[in-house]
Amino acid sequence: MKRVFNFSAGPATLPLSVLEEARAELLDYQGTGRSIMEMSHRSPEYTAIDAEAKERLHSLMGLDDRFHIMFLQGGASAQFMQIPFNLLREDQAADYIDTGRWSAKAIKEAKRFGKVNVAYSSANANYDHVPTDDQLSLSENAAYVHYTSNNTVCGTQFPKEPETKGIPLVCDASSDILSRPIDVDRYGLIYAGAQKNIGPAGVTVVIIRDDLLQASKTEDVPTILRYQTHAEKIFNTPPVFAVYMVNKVLKWAQDQGGVDYFETFNRKKADLLYQIIDEDDFYQGTTQKDSRSLMNVTFRLPNEELESRFLEEAKTHDLYALKGHRSVGGIRTSIYNAMPMEGVQTLGNFMKEFRNQNG
Ligand code: PMP
Repeated sequence: MKRVFNFSAGPATLPLSVLEEARAELLDYQGTGRSIMEMSHRSPEYTAIDAEAKERLHSLMGLDDRFHIMFLQGGASAQFMQIPFNLLREDQAADYIDTGRWSAKAIKEAKRFGKVNVAYSSANANYDHVPTDDQLSLSENAAYVHYTSNNTVCGTQFPKEPETKGIPLVCDASSDILSRPIDVDRYGLIYAGAQKNIGPAGVTVVIIRDDLLQASKTEDVPTILRYQTHAEKIFNTPPVFAVYMVNKVLKWAQDQGGVDYFETFNRKKADLLYQIIDEDDFYQGTTQKDSRSLMNVTFRLPNEELESRFLEEAKTHDLYALKGHRSVGGIRTSIYNAMPMEGVQTLGNFMKEFRNQNG
């Protein structure tokens, strides 16, 4: 068997031990003679997994019992619609911070449901930064403030939660959930497609605070799209295999030392790459230093021909999926929780070697 260092932005690399465990259990889950994929979602085996995964996530993120966790489908993209559908009434406004491709999509969807105030946009600067608190133009009585904590495509990340003067934050944490501690009191809702930092594609984690849930709309919202439908019980067949995998990744994350551990670990990995980028002009970071992401490190080489060669030669060192998003080009290295230090070191050494030969 050959495993490469996989820097894919998502679906992203998973911990090897998790994949191995899943392989061992694939045909016979805990002596049941069946795979978890072949069992009712009402079976004791599956409901135990669902409960355990939620408990682990509560504990890892430091969520108290005000927070409800749901395992939904439709990707983070479905939340762009489901959030305003449930939380934004026609006579209300919501504030959105536009820091990248995904926040722009969230804004576009929210406008279908109510008034949207764009509190800040870095679109004119190619999304190369996130705003500071004093740059935000927040409205007086917004239902919520939506932001994207880590911008996967352009490689920026909020260093901390934006200050919203008591208005609950709604956060697309798809590409940095569990990568560092958060100030949970600030959040009304957190959502994340699992396929970057917590599992395989197919499940979206949505965490909602009880006061927002209770105030959420039910009239006019189709049953399947209401948060109130999903918060208290498993309503319909969930993506059972994806949730099973998420539970294993969460256990792995706990065993590693939780979000405090990952914050230090992720910073170490990102620093190693940014240091190489900053050494001279061969590699050019595409984002402002204060906004740099610890999850997606993006940079350019002197020309596109060198970038193509970089990507090709990287493969001979078992370094894969380093191509930047199709909308921006260049190189993007996604170094989520499950990317081992060894992968980043191998990449760093390759970057230095490539620069020596082509710089
Ligand atoms: N938000 C962010 C920050 C993302 O990185 C992505 C996926 N790359 C999405 C939303 C969209 O997620 P999905 O494909 O699960 O709809």
